[in-house]
Amino acid sequence: MIIEPTEKAVRNPSEAFPLSMLQQSDAGIMDEVIQREEADDKIKKEKRKLLCKFCLNEITSEDYGIAVHGAHSHTFMNPRGIVFRIGCFLNAQGCFSIGKPTAEYTWFPGYTWNHVICSNCLNHLGWYYQSGGSSFYGLILDQLTEK
Ligand SMILES: [Zn+2]
Repeated sequence: MIIEPTEKAVRNPSEAFPLSMLQQSDAGIMDEVIQREEADDKIKKEKRKLLCKFCLNEITSEDYGIAVHGAHSHTFMNPRGIVFRIGCFLNAQGCFSIGKPTAEYTWFPGYTWNHVICSNCLNHLGWYYQSGGSSFYGLILDQLTEK
């Protein structure tokens, strides 16, 4: 497994900013980009889709990629010593969460998590995080492939 040296580890939870704030600014930027590129080739502005590596079910797309605690991708180790590289996404229509949310060993302070599985092949793809009104998907990047 490759761990990229440029990735930012989560050290200080106070660096986090509200997800709702991020969504608003992202939406504004996207509107401008879409208006500017309206005459351009449609394929060019379409972001890459991310598929389940096991069954090629469409899970999410790069459009939904967000930064949480200052970075989109994070590398964490679970209590069993297994390292995961995850990407944060606002939405992931191709999977669903199972089990009861828990805060135990959470990688994002203040957020509860539960497992997320592919809606087609049921393989484990990551975790769904919730805190108050905000939520996101932390998907294991090694379990996804690009279209
Ligand atoms: Zn699948």
